[in-house]
Amino acid sequence: MVNTVFRYDEPLNEPVKAYKPDSPETASLKATLKSMSGAAIEVPCIVGGEEIYTGQVTDWTAPHDHENIVCRWHGATPEVIQKAIDNGQEAWKEWSETPFHVRISIFRKAAELLAGPWRDRLNASTMLGQSKNVLQAEIDAACELIDFWRYNGLYALRLYGDQPASQPGMWNYVDYRPLEGFVYAVTPFNFTSIGGNLPTAPALMGNVALWKASSNAVLSNYYIMKCLEEAGLPPGVINFVPGKAREVTAVAMGSEHFAGLHYTGSTAVFNMLWRQMAEGLERFNGYPRIVGETGGKDFIFAHESADVEQLAVAAIRGAFEYQGQKCSAASRMYVPSTMWPDLKERMAAEIEQIKMGDIEDWQTFMGAVINEAAYDEITSYVDRAKTATDASIFKGGGHSKEKGWFIEPTVIECENPRYETMTTELFGPVLSVHVYDPARLDETLELCDTSSEYALTGAIFARDRTVAERLATALRHAAGNFYINDKPTGAVVNQQPFGGARGSGTDDKAGSPLNLTRWIAARTVKETFDAPRDWRYPHMA
Ligand code: NAD
Repeated sequence: MVNTVFRYDEPLNEPVKAYKPDSPETASLKATLKSMSGAAIEVPCIVGGEEIYTGQVTDWTAPHDHENIVCRWHGATPEVIQKAIDNGQEAWKEWSETPFHVRISIFRKAAELLAGPWRDRLNASTMLGQSKNVLQAEIDAACELIDFWRYNGLYALRLYGDQPASQPGMWNYVDYRPLEGFVYAVTPFNFTSIGGNLPTAPALMGNVALWKASSNAVLSNYYIMKCLEEAGLPPGVINFVPGKAREVTAVAMGSEHFAGLHYTGSTAVFNMLWRQMAEGLERFNGYPRIVGETGGKDFIFAHESADVEQLAVAAIRGAFEYQGQKCSAASRMYVPSTMWPDLKERMAAEIEQIKMGDIEDWQTFMGAVINEAAYDEITSYVDRAKTATDASIFKGGGHSKEKGWFIEPTVIECENPRYETMTTELFGPVLSVHVYDPARLDETLELCDTSSEYALTGAIFARDRTVAERLATALRHAAGNFYINDKPTGAVVNQQPFGGARGSGTDDKAGSPLNLTRWIAARTVKETFDAPRDWRYPHMA
């Protein structure tokens, strides 16, 4: 017990290390990569602090190198999942009563560990396991997760300090309780930081979490657990149960203690989970909270007044960084016909220079896509475009699965603005471009707004500021993260809170106070200092 109203100075975003070829950080990270590469590290489930090797083993190879077995992870059996839920309920008794400064301090410490001794392990496992190049790993596994942990502590304190007014004779306050039960965290492969944030944001607020990590990102996610353990997170507060998605979900949602879903991934899976949850309503002890950040069909809309050089760079970085496997990746672009010949030439020349290959090579800009299913899906669209009558590939289109799941950066020119690659989320290095007549600006804006089910990110390019405002207004509901003269990717915690509406999710903005409010059950307390002693009111005299 301490008598303290805590002060928490505003953190700074973790600086992104440059990893220049001859820098000390490069030497250190390369040594870690070497030790992990091909090491086939055994990854267990973790329940109540116990490492459980179930024997249900999956070998995970680096997406860019089929020969490189990165880890062998053990999937949770139904018994292990049930044990994790029971154990979490036990842990809840103490954790839900643990003072907030203790909880916050654990995640602040985790942030410092990740900024220091754990940085290389998280970056290297993300590079090898998820095929990110060094910079993409650094901004995700290190910097973004550090930021989540540092800023969420500040947001939690501010939230706890948000209290109602009191009149003389009474004292009103709100006790921000955790939910009764556990939060089910289901995480995607493409951001290690999201893996870390989804179970820890509820845990910070006093909840326990059951974490089903993505089968495509188990190694880096396991290291997050180990980092949290070192930071002092008590056993059972987060139980780590990678496994068969349907099996884990059946046990999780079969429990009366299921109190919330913290999900990031595709829209189709989220819809399925929501339906499954609705069917369980009579079973649960309370109404579960639902947070889901889902898919996108993110756009760049160029006006005639746009700077064409900046536009080309934004398109290339926005569409092809991390092989287009960012929920925010630019995947469709609207370009005025007056600008297209120039832009096309510039983009073609730049794309020629993109190096694709092994992420252990520092010059690599693009690695491979995550797995065979993704490769088959994305290339089916690319190959169909080769023979389409209303679309044509102007750059890229090649692919090979010989060494890894490699797909060239591809640009498809779509005469038909509703061609399938203009409207479907492919989640790969494919950018579709529709060239429009500048005289039909309003019509094209409406197309952009209405031709996909999503509304996650979007960017407009225009030097004329009044035009930019007109575009921003026309596209007001088309994106939850909107950029003016910048690429639509690269949101930073505390600067651009992230999330979208429509088919892109519940827009609860990861890395912001809005998200934390989803993991509390507020109890309002009114304390009266001198309660009435007569039941009669004055008007009755
Ligand atoms: P995914 O939908 O394949 O998987 C997401 C998670 O759901 C994984 O853990 C997976 O195992 C799990 N899952 C799959 N079927 C399930 C089931 N029946 N029950 C329970 N869990 C199940 O997505 P992914 O390939 O990992 O990630 C890519 C998708 O995520 C893209 O659609 C992308 O746009 C989206 N995404 C969105 C955001 C955002 O903030 N909006 C961020 C990152 C990724």
